[in-house]
Amino acid sequence: MSIILLVEDNTSNASLLEDVFSFDHIPAQLVTVTSGEQAQRLAILLDPVLILMDLRLPGIDGLETTEMLKHNPLTKNIPVWAITAYAMPGDEERAREAGCEEYFAKPFPIRTLADCLKEFLRGLRKTESRTDASTQSTNC
Ligand code: MN
Repeated sequence: MSIILLVEDNTSNASLLEDVFSFDHIPAQLVTVTSGEQAQRLAILLDPVLILMDLRLPGIDGLETTEMLKHNPLTKNIPVWAITAYAMPGDEERAREAGCEEYFAKPFPIRTLADCLKEFLRGLRKTESRTDASTQSTNC
């Protein structure tokens, strides 16, 4: 089963996402880490199909973590979707500059994220032979 890596330091946000995965039957295994440092190690180790990135993290924040992932040849092709509970003006622009392919600011309807995840995973299955998942587009 495909692995999706969640980088989230807030445990209630992380369990909300875990609930979305189980209630909406999202066909991927969610692995959660709580820091940018762990995200870089686990991204290399697990080669997830997608990374969901909280922007506000202690230490290396989500933007910097995304930049590091996008500059590492081992992880640069993994799509990164920014998820933030405390959106600030300019966040989306900064997230996209850092390399995030999608941006979700709360409060967003949770349905939107679940639908986007499903669509993304459907697209992956259709293009299984392709290794570069970042070239995929969703309507999200
Ligand atoms: Mn956070």
